[in-house]
Amino acid sequence: MGLAAHLPDQGPPAVVGAGQRVPLIDGRLIDYANLDHAASAPSLAAVRAAVDELLPWYAGVHRGAGFPSRVSTRVYENARDALRRFVGAGPDAAVVFTRNTTDSLNLLARALPSDASVVLFDTEHHAALLPWRGARHLRTPDRAEDAVDVLDRALAERPACLVVLTGASNVTGEVWPVAALAEVAHRHGARVVLDAAQLAPHRPVDITALGVDYVALSGHKLYAPFGVGALVGPGDWLQAAEPYLVGGGATKVVGDGFAVTWSDAPHRHEAGSPNVVGVHAMAVACTTLAGAWEQVVAHEETLLARLRSALAHVPGLTELALFGPDHDRVGVVSFTLDGVDAGLAAAVLSAEHGIGVRDGAFCAHIAVRRLAGRARGDTQAVRASVGLGTAPEHVDRLGRALRLL
Ligand code: PLP
Repeated sequence: MGLAAHLPDQGPPAVVGAGQRVPLIDGRLIDYANLDHAASAPSLAAVRAAVDELLPWYAGVHRGAGFPSRVSTRVYENARDALRRFVGAGPDAAVVFTRNTTDSLNLLARALPSDASVVLFDTEHHAALLPWRGARHLRTPDRAEDAVDVLDRALAERPACLVVLTGASNVTGEVWPVAALAEVAHRHGARVVLDAAQLAPHRPVDITALGVDYVALSGHKLYAPFGVGALVGPGDWLQAAEPYLVGGGATKVVGDGFAVTWSDAPHRHEAGSPNVVGVHAMAVACTTLAGAWEQVVAHEETLLARLRSALAHVPGLTELALFGPDHDRVGVVSFTLDGVDAGLAAAVLSAEHGIGVRDGAFCAHIAVRRLAGRARGDTQAVRASVGLGTAPEHVDRLGRALRLL
């Protein structure tokens, strides 16, 4: 079945599981209110259809002459083109399939030239914060415009090889001024990697328009199942680097005395039997989203406005923001509640109202400590995030439920 068959005439792409009922603490069943897209998004209907079609045929890639192997190899290599198109990369960009954004960023960290220095802001997700040993951490300023000056000054003082940027915060949903920051980085001779885990499901990410070099993303946030991600960018560092995961597929030849000739990038960084089905699922999700950005963004903007207006009517609720309440953001909002523990709030929302949110510090401890601490001295918050699996009623239900806490 063609992808177009899964796109409703005017609305955004459909997801699987919409209208699924979940049990409440009293045993009643209720339509699940999915306000947890920032953690993982439900699969698109188009993804399920594509996976179904491939399941009878998947096999190892590049390693067999049988029909399933040839089908799988074609699907796998076509997916690289889909990912390149999705992020607006040219035909020469390397696409390495990884497990997720964390894996992609760790791979790049291992592939850096020796002595490479790395600069990043301190409020990043741990996936972007932790892989770079000895990186310089810049304090995230209170205004997005100031981030550009902070980076400019830091690079003028001491140049770096790589600047790590995040497209959208997984705590506040705020969109970083990526193009302006990338321009500064390039002016100082640094490359830029964009952690697009949180931006790519919500807005088009275009390597050229943003001026970044590498993009890292995760399939499970892009409406495909778990277990697959990608790193897209120039191939030179990847080609020069020894693989950090070694095994079949990463080698051209293992000679006598264990003399190893590694495969060329990207294959040298994809040791072992690859996740062909997952890669196909992610590629179909990317292609489907790319064909429906207008509907996706419109759906989300409507829900986000409704969510923020619902939250504004909850007494004692404080929204977290890096750059202020009016800064551009995707459909992610975190908040604290006066006198109510975040974990307890999330548990009650689930048990009594069938609402899925996230609570805690969202693998961004520095950001949450700073922002929630600024609000009330908290170290945890509640996060509600909307997406294609969210209906307006889910948002209204959250508002009502929070007022009852
Ligand atoms: N970066 C950001 C901004 C994220 O929100 C996440 C996940 O929440 C990650 C990186 C890590 O993604 P993954 O767990 O899929 O590797």
